[in-house]
Amino acid sequence: MKKDIDWGSLSFAYVDTDYRYETRYKDGKWDEGGLTTDKMMQIHECAGVLQYAQTCFEGLKAYTTEDGRTVCFRPDLNAERMINSCQRLEMPTIDKDKFISAVKQVVKANEGFVPPFGSGATLYIRPYMYASGPVIGVKPADEYVFRIFTTPVGPYFKGGVKPITIRVSDFDRAAPNGTGHIKAGLNYAMSLHAIVDAHNQGFAENMYLDPATRTKVEETGGANFLFVTKDNTVVTPKSSSILPSITRRSLIYVAEHYLGLKVEEREILLDEVKDFAECGLCGTAAVISPVGKIVDHGKEICMPAGMEKMGPITQKLYDTLTGIQMGRIEAPEGWICEI
Ligand SMILES: *Cc1c(COP(=O)(O)O)cnc(C)c1O
Repeated sequence: MKKDIDWGSLSFAYVDTDYRYETRYKDGKWDEGGLTTDKMMQIHECAGVLQYAQTCFEGLKAYTTEDGRTVCFRPDLNAERMINSCQRLEMPTIDKDKFISAVKQVVKANEGFVPPFGSGATLYIRPYMYASGPVIGVKPADEYVFRIFTTPVGPYFKGGVKPITIRVSDFDRAAPNGTGHIKAGLNYAMSLHAIVDAHNQGFAENMYLDPATRTKVEETGGANFLFVTKDNTVVTPKSSSILPSITRRSLIYVAEHYLGLKVEEREILLDEVKDFAECGLCGTAAVISPVGKIVDHGKEICMPAGMEKMGPITQKLYDTLTGIQMGRIEAPEGWICEI
């Protein structure tokens, strides 16, 4: 039974669902784990997460395909990325099988909150881990909690896709050998001031540059860049401080293997952005948000695709990947995970 929710009017905000998954790490091992109805957690005043920000997370979606199946998209890659995040933060890892099984359990238990096909809405899945054990000397904690909650979220673009205007940021998001490549909450904490400031100045997002030279394009606070050249090559920045977006990696595959386009992952200079034909931001939330204008300290770079619609290649990429996700187009082996 689907819940009585006006799916189309949901925004990207927390809505309570019935179940969440929890497993706890203590004495060097994870417990069995299972579902709980309790959304509140009691936490030690000296927990590692509160004192030294030892926490990381993931984000993926469950949705209903055209033929009525409940599925999620490439959860194995979220599991792998979370293992990398945990290792970098000296946290215990969750086995890939346990992670995927937990995702399935929590989605199945909240099946009534998985929006129906055609609503444009999805069930957002948020796995996360935090240090629950007390630490006051700076070191990794001894105890951890891994949880997954879900929340139904509305269509990303209400009333049609609109290209956005972004600015080149004077703030940095990641150090050259820091934590930019992992999904750590700390990367977001320090991006909040930059995004609030960008919004105050009328920009939707920040384009971060490489902090060492400030000449190369990295990513935004929560999405990777894809560019299209005037001769239809799909180009994406290569950097060890970019978060490896699963959407971006999937789109690159689609560009090459479904659309027969040339793709390049390479360093991209801010100076060459003015020569590109199209620009988009990729992430789980929107799949692709088209960028219409990039403002670099008063100097405007206007993408030829304009401010009214996605560029033609961006649109093809978007249609093909969402077609694969919704079951209209045959998916590569292992991309669609049935619940
Ligand atoms: C999560 C995230 C993305 C998008 O990754 P997806 O796997 O496509 O959702 C991009 N950049 C940053 C910094 C992120 O945290």
